[in-house]
Amino acid sequence: MHYPDSKDRSAELLRQAIPMMAQHPAPLHPITYAVWYDYLAGRNAGLKAEMDQVVARQVPMSDALVYTLYRRHILESAAETAQKVSDGLRAVIDEVGTTATLTGERVSEFTASLQEKSGRMASLGMPANLGVELDALLTDSRDTGASLSTLMQRLQAATSELAKLRVELDQAKVEATLDSLTGVSNRRGFDEAMAALLREHPSGEAGPSVVLIDLDHFKQINDKYGHVFGDTVLKSIAMAIRSCVKGRDLVARYGGEEFVVLLPATALSGALALAEQIRTTISGARIRRGSSSESIGAITVSLGVSSWQPGEPMEALIDRADKALYRSKSDGRNRVSAGE
Ligand code: GH3
Ligand code: MG
Ligand code: MG
Repeated sequence: MHYPDSKDRSAELLRQAIPMMAQHPAPLHPITYAVWYDYLAGRNAGLKAEMDQVVARQVPMSDALVYTLYRRHILESAAETAQKVSDGLRAVIDEVGTTATLTGERVSEFTASLQEKSGRMASLGMPANLGVELDALLTDSRDTGASLSTLMQRLQAATSELAKLRVELDQAKVEATLDSLTGVSNRRGFDEAMAALLREHPSGEAGPSVVLIDLDHFKQINDKYGHVFGDTVLKSIAMAIRSCVKGRDLVARYGGEEFVVLLPATALSGALALAEQIRTTISGARIRRGSSSESIGAITVSLGVSSWQPGEPMEALIDRADKALYRSKSDGRNRVSAGE
């Protein structure tokens, strides 16, 4: 989602949101504002449908409901979108803060000038009723100053809330690219890293290359020892692959029992050597079962390697690695093949 609103439009949304938010029990923190802002802006169809119901049925918006709507329609739509909401909110808060500071300064100047004039008029012996009016003006102006300083405090609180939200978002963004079982990148992390590499690929640089790795007869491991042990094997394999790579190389779980290694600036020959190293590391490892320390024999993998050809899309590169992997399987498994 993008926030294309002009300053005037966003100020208008702010004006509309405040009285509506005030009618509900949820505290007026930035999340509450994000929900109302998005609702009033009318671009988020899912949120609009749900909020229309809330408004029509006069459902009180509790803090819990605010968070639910926020998660469902704003945060979960993508961490990136949430980042933009956070940026948008930050801009609005900064804007309001600056305006409030400027207004505060003007109010102080006005109060000082009123005070000075009131003193001067008193010394000139002005009529009593005029003095009362002036005092009332002075009180009003001091009250305005006090409200502004309360507003500033609230804005400061909102800003620190926003900073916390930013940290959580960054964390969520990282977590969204990791595989929860093995801790290596997930498919999304791989796709993003690969897209970035191809986008920024300096002409003349080798690679990138990919190594696709699929466990051999893994179904049998699950069938014989159970799915939970199967998961442990996947973790061990991820660790073994990780132990073979270095620097900018990225290990990802590409799917169920399939891993991929992304090798920036690496030609096919280098990638094939690494694939062979991964193969021997895994086939040479002995995986034991829990406390029984019973060895389950060697686990092997089949690998397919390909190197990027300038101009080809990422899918073509993966497809060649996949075909090579298939050849490794049909040629008897526990081997490495190069993509055409
Ligand atoms: P091949 O050598 O042809 O690759 O045989 P295979 O048994 O490894 O391949 P197949 O595609 O028949 O089976 C893959 C198995 O991987 C089946 C599936 O249950 C298992 N698997 C996929 N993801 C997971 C997972 O997250 N945990 C566990 N324990 N097993 C998984
Ligand atoms: Mg497979
Ligand atoms: Mg397999």
